[in-house]
Amino acid sequence: MTTVTLTATATCTAGAARVVSGTPEKPGLAQPVTRRLLVERAGFLTALVQRLAGGLLATAWAEQHLDQLASGVDAEGRRLPAKGWMALRRLGWTPLIPAGLRVPDRVRRAAEEETARALRLALHRRAVTTAIIATWPADPRRRTTDDWVLLRRHLPAGTDNVTIRNRTRQIASFAARHGRLPDGFTELETPPTIPAQVLLAAADRQLVRVGRLDEVRARVWVQLPTVPAPASYRDWAWHDITVTLPPTVGPDTKLCTPTLRLRDGKVRLDLPFDTTVEAAPLAGHRRAIGADWGYNTLLTAVVAEPGPDDTVVCSGRALRFDAAGVSRKLDRLRAHRETLKTKVTHLERLAAGRHSGLDPASTAKLDLLREEHQRVCARIRNLGRALAWSAARWLIDQAHAAGATVVYLEDLTCMEAPGSSKAWNRRLSNATRGVLADAVRHLGMREQVAVVTVPARGTSSGCPRCGNKLRHIQAPDNHKPANPWALCGCGHSADRDYSAAQRIAARGLAGQHRTTRNRAGQATVRDTVDAPVRRTKTTTPRPAASRDKHRPTPSRPRRREASRVPGFSPAALATAGSRPAPTKAVQRPAGRTPQNLTVQVPGTTRSHTFSSNHTRTRHRVRWAVLGRGFHHHVNSTPLQQRAGPHGGETPGTPRIAQEN
Ligand SMILES: [Zn+2]
Repeated sequence: MTTVTLTATATCTAGAARVVSGTPEKPGLAQPVTRRLLVERAGFLTALVQRLAGGLLATAWAEQHLDQLASGVDAEGRRLPAKGWMALRRLGWTPLIPAGLRVPDRVRRAAEEETARALRLALHRRAVTTAIIATWPADPRRRTTDDWVLLRRHLPAGTDNVTIRNRTRQIASFAARHGRLPDGFTELETPPTIPAQVLLAAADRQLVRVGRLDEVRARVWVQLPTVPAPASYRDWAWHDITVTLPPTVGPDTKLCTPTLRLRDGKVRLDLPFDTTVEAAPLAGHRRAIGADWGYNTLLTAVVAEPGPDDTVVCSGRALRFDAAGVSRKLDRLRAHRETLKTKVTHLERLAAGRHSGLDPASTAKLDLLREEHQRVCARIRNLGRALAWSAARWLIDQAHAAGATVVYLEDLTCMEAPGSSKAWNRRLSNATRGVLADAVRHLGMREQVAVVTVPARGTSSGCPRCGNKLRHIQAPDNHKPANPWALCGCGHSADRDYSAAQRIAARGLAGQHRTTRNRAGQATVRDTVDAPVRRTKTTTPRPAASRDKHRPTPSRPRRREASRVPGFSPAALATAGSRPAPTKAVQRPAGRTPQNLTVQVPGTTRSHTFSSNHTRTRHRVRWAVLGRGFHHHVNSTPLQQRAGPHGGETPGTPRIAQEN
């Protein structure tokens, strides 16, 4: 079995620190440094790097420079190094050191790395912008089919529609202001702001060292300036910082060089760590989970197995992760963000139009609005990320519970947003979907579940049983064209997402022997091989009576409220002859219901809590492992726990009955 290295980043806060004379090899006198002083000195370093990088970025922000960087070769035609700071040095772009400042070469490297990353990120935006300007349509609000074809030919592969829309709006607004199209990307956009952080990974042992103190603590040695403008090397000193590691960083992980930044008056260290894990095999799977980025729900999954005669047998039970509540919250936040943005833009326009600038009250208002806008943006980002990670956790837990060794997903890069992008965006933004895909891959890799993408084309439009085109309707009893339900002439009639999940699982299992890894190491099946799906009977057998049901299920007899009161019997009530016993159900007090079950996820220390008398119930996704709070409820299928073994299988593994 092959092993792979998995890199994750833990955000740590700097603990106790000491300033040490001499070097880490020959430490001299050590003096404790207060937290305040440490924050101040780390602030000197981040400000210095920001200043150097900002200056360099401003000089490099020109079309000919970006062309040079995009070409990937230097003036002599040699390939540019992958490391950003090395590439910039090869091109001869170095930051200007202000007179009188003494800056170690390693700090310059960190600044160059920061600049290189900003420039390389800009290259993608520039490619999109250049393509849109080159193919500017007659009416930018509505492109014709020919316009789209032409644009797609110029765009970098995998550009999504939201990016195209936003860039088009940006260029249209420039054209409205200037009466012409921008000459190039650098005229349209100013250089981005360099974040206040130091990428210590660009430096080496002369600036930073990382090691473990014990299983739960690490030690970071870093050179920090002791004054805002260091004039000689005497103004730089080694600082020995102790960092407590979060529980996600196991004792057998390898610590890498961190990124240093300030946050909430503390020194933060984003510490990457490598874990070596056994890679799950790409082929030879006997049970799989196919998951669809749902239209009705966030994720819809189904358990599938290879069946006889090159068919695939799918379980009749759809596994759902429905975060409609969180999605609505995200919608509200997005609307709020737009309102704030409009107000900010309005005030900025006012300020630009006046020679004297804004009055103090409006300036204060503008600052407040900008701050609020930043906060709302951060909230949207964090909530989206938390949602994506909890959905990924749920999916991998479902795979464990079902005994599946592989999860098949749609390939996001070849997916096009459907016609009504508005409805699609309500569910999940592109960014969140990307985070979700990465999170599923990460968790899968850590827990030996292969995560493989399959081509997205036709997964929701084709019938999983016969492959013909599906009809999408409102509901099985309402054939109005709409999205929620899928119907086929062969008799297939199912929820749209469930139907798509079946097709994804079948496509993955049928093509599993052609699974390859792309350059980024992600497992993928490139060829579309569709196997006909046979559905089994539902794995949770229903009572026979419910099959020919023609009347509502009678409600269960309720216990009389009076009998619950200690020392109080209905007989006593009858003899007293006063008030009759209450017949209305009394509301259950808040808190855990007595039917709550806690299910251990097989092979882990994690558990899911859910109410036993519902198949789809509100339950909170617990974050014991990653230590993240996720305070919104989601409706998701709980992990199935089956009592008793089936034909020698381990308990907790749902069995798929063969359809005869
Ligand atoms: Zn069909």
